[in-house]
Amino acid sequence: MSITRYLLASDLDGTLIPLERNAQRLREVDELVHAFEASEGLRLAYVTGRHLSLAQAGIAEIGLPSPDWFVCDVGTSVYRRTNGGYEPDPDYRRAMSAVLGGLGGDDVRAAIDAMDGLELQEEEKQAEFKVSYYTKGRPEPFVETVQSRLDAAHAKVNLVASHDPVSGRGLIDVLPAGIAKDYAVRYLHDASGVDEEHLVYAGDSGNDRAAMLTGYRVIVVGNADEALKKDLGIEAVAQGIAERIYFAEHPYARGVLEGLRHFGLLS
Ligand SMILES: [Mg+2]
Repeated sequence: MSITRYLLASDLDGTLIPLERNAQRLREVDELVHAFEASEGLRLAYVTGRHLSLAQAGIAEIGLPSPDWFVCDVGTSVYRRTNGGYEPDPDYRRAMSAVLGGLGGDDVRAAIDAMDGLELQEEEKQAEFKVSYYTKGRPEPFVETVQSRLDAAHAKVNLVASHDPVSGRGLIDVLPAGIAKDYAVRYLHDASGVDEEHLVYAGDSGNDRAAMLTGYRVIVVGNADEALKKDLGIEAVAQGIAERIYFAEHPYARGVLEGLRHFGLLS
């Protein structure tokens, strides 16, 4: 008899990694980890905005198991487990490069070139297909020039601009056009070969929203933003997928365990 395969693709911060570190929260993580260990055929993917090394440090700190895949850098990197470590998934790299119009992050940097008041962020915040800048003051005045230089290089990108009121600096992320966590989760569905109804996505915030509306089974942990819960409730009904979205009563790891039991992935 063959084992049914399942995939849990989960956000880390605020979902599997609790925002408060106390004994109870860590016990709840332990409980979930024991349930993973007792299950047969459950594969894991962590889907995070973090860089790979920071994602690995985060799971080690609270005792989460090593996953089959890491999706890092807001969905622009996928790493798969190999003997003893993780390597960038070659098919995903090809896909990112194709989306960027055949370019890589280095080409993006070269195309944007130097500009007064625009500065590359620290190396650990860069990824192969995500290039991140600081701007002096608000980012808006820089966006048009950055975009036109990238257009001239035929780079197909989305610019995500934000402003940090604390430092007064702006932030600009350059990402392959249309790439976010939802694209990566669809990719994992294909790469893992699990049936659609056996893929469960868990998350807590706005950057999980698109991944939560792709039609897979979804766990919204109890601590998720109230506005997100309300919005997902309305959208799910509108799209006819309400029964696929489970709003957990419990927060964080305990909420993920509750949801996995609801969908029958764990007993
Ligand atoms: Mg989160």
